[in-house]
Amino acid sequence: MSSVQPGCLWVVATPIGHRDDLSARAIVTLREVAVIAAEDTRHSRPLLVHHNIDTPLIALHDHNERDAVDAIVRRMEAGDSVALISDAGTPLISDPGFRLVRAARAAGIRCIPVPGACAAIAALSVAGLPSDRFVFEGFLPPKAAARRSRLQELGGDARTLIFYESSHRVAESLADMRDIFGATREAVLARELTKMFETVLGEPLAELAARVAADPDQQRGECVILVAGRGEEADAKLVEGRRIFAILREELPPAKAAKMAAAITGAPRKELYRSE
Ligand code: SAM
Repeated sequence: MSSVQPGCLWVVATPIGHRDDLSARAIVTLREVAVIAAEDTRHSRPLLVHHNIDTPLIALHDHNERDAVDAIVRRMEAGDSVALISDAGTPLISDPGFRLVRAARAAGIRCIPVPGACAAIAALSVAGLPSDRFVFEGFLPPKAAARRSRLQELGGDARTLIFYESSHRVAESLADMRDIFGATREAVLARELTKMFETVLGEPLAELAARVAADPDQQRGECVILVAGRGEEADAKLVEGRRIFAILREELPPAKAAKMAAAITGAPRKELYRSE
């Protein structure tokens, strides 16, 4: 007898690299649902074939989600069970699916998670950074000005920060993080998790940014960047930075005073400027 209830939406995590990171429950679910809504049917097929899953696939990606959702909800209302998968990891986590889950819930359809891999959580589990409180920021804006302004907003957060980043921008983003969070803030670059070239590098931001900038191999593959939250050390720097800023401010315009106080103490320049 099927263990998959009819008329439900099964949100199924798939591997982020290693093909065997698909849970036994995920395999049974994907075999037994009426249809699998996949972000890219061509991408998912080899994984499904590897696990002897021959359930029909339909496409649900960022470009058709708005239109596809109604039809999928109607199918579930008519009694079909549907599984949602994305190219890798947990659907909806920097991946499509939000609209479908929202519409399904609004229609009173039960949404059932089948948990599994997620790059952010896998990276956090081996980073050695505080994991009691963390914030997932997804991808930073690709343009430098918007990225820096997002990082500025996060500069005072005491929680561990987790970012997804494209390999093309990882060096640039680490350099911005060094400038904004400070050279000594601890950070981790987790690359190619569960794959052949899996690498987890943990260093203060200045060293990590320099190492990645100097080594093109560290700018390949899929990356998660984790940064320790602002700690007491940073608070002490800011207190000292503000003290120096106040002294310099008596002789200098605020931008120049903030720049010099930041260089002397390592406190973030913008925060000093804001204390004006
Ligand atoms: N839904 C996925 C999840 O649950 O992690 C994330 C999908 S998002 C489109 C893809 C990004 O996740 C990559 O650019 C990278 O930042 C991160 N990622 C995915 N797989 C990874 C891996 N094996 N190692 C490191 N980062 C990975």
